[in-house]
Amino acid sequence: LASLGRLAAGLAHEIGTPLNVIGGRAETLLRKLTDHEVAQKNLRIISTQIDRITRIVRGMLDFARVPEPRLAPVAVPEVIRRVVELLEHRFEQSRVRVELAMSEDLPEVQADAGQLEQVFLNLATNAIDAMPQGGALRIVARTVIRSHPDVAGSVGSFLAVAFEDTGQGIARENIDKLFDPFFTTKDVGKGTGLGLSIAYGIAREHGGWMDVESQSTRGACLTVYLPMKGVASRADSQAGRLAS
Ligand code: ADP
Repeated sequence: LASLGRLAAGLAHEIGTPLNVIGGRAETLLRKLTDHEVAQKNLRIISTQIDRITRIVRGMLDFARVPEPRLAPVAVPEVIRRVVELLEHRFEQSRVRVELAMSEDLPEVQADAGQLEQVFLNLATNAIDAMPQGGALRIVARTVIRSHPDVAGSVGSFLAVAFEDTGQGIARENIDKLFDPFFTTKDVGKGTGLGLSIAYGIAREHGGWMDVESQSTRGACLTVYLPMKGVASRADSQAGRLAS
């Protein structure tokens, strides 16, 4: 994954510059050739396709460089409420009812609020995409005692934030690929397949992880686990000292 990250960052950088030039030239021509209908039509197609590549390249960069989280005490319910507010219109348009189930006295976690927001935004937008006919999204935040999947024999307290939807669910054969970079079932141009792999990277950098449960066609539940007692460094994790 580290080599893939470096390759992605290198590629994104090399592709980014010429892409900007092509996009810029297409925009200039669009402005100049106002009375040339055929040229306008073709230039608009070029512009749209450039935007599409730019989005993928940006995603590759995000994937390649999940920056070190800048940790501070974070009240997770506040971040969740902010994300729900940000997506208010999309929920309304898609006829998705949102239900929050979280106690206000959840302890704060050591986290990077911006990165958590990115993770929750991704989970919520995936849920919206999975419910084209509308439905319900339930966001549950609670503390749990779990064994860290990467640390054999460890047991610790984690804040678990689950996004449960009533959407189309995930086919059994896709469950294992869900967090892989570039895995997407969305139409060309709609998904890059990087959202969940970036989200997983963020959870891991925080000393946590993510999991998924889905009974195909009966909705999906994606959960982020964040350690309650600061971040376990990789060395700590390997030594199994996460258990507290
Ligand atoms: P993208 O959204 O660009 O496809 P993601 O990494 O965010 O990339 O998601 C990868 C794939 O996981 C999606 O294409 C979709 O098939 C599946 N997926 C993610 N969340 C859900 C969900 N809530 N319900 C059903 N499928 C989901």
